[in-house]
Amino acid sequence: MNEAHNHTAVCACGHEKFSTLESRPRSIHGVMCVVRRKQCRSCLRSITTAEVPLSVAKDVWNEE
Ligand SMILES: [Zn+2]
Repeated sequence: MNEAHNHTAVCACGHEKFSTLESRPRSIHGVMCVVRRKQCRSCLRSITTAEVPLSVAKDVWNEE
């Protein structure tokens, strides 16, 4: 599984377009996130991403 804070999804092949295979809620560090399994439309490799609410991301990772 990829790191949870890696919210810019780019496939190892460099492609950025994915089809979503599965998405489900999951608690990460006490924060409700949406974990998605995606499949690269170019090479069909599957990756996992975690999405968090923007307000939470700012608190946790100090972005922006
Ligand atoms: Zn790919």
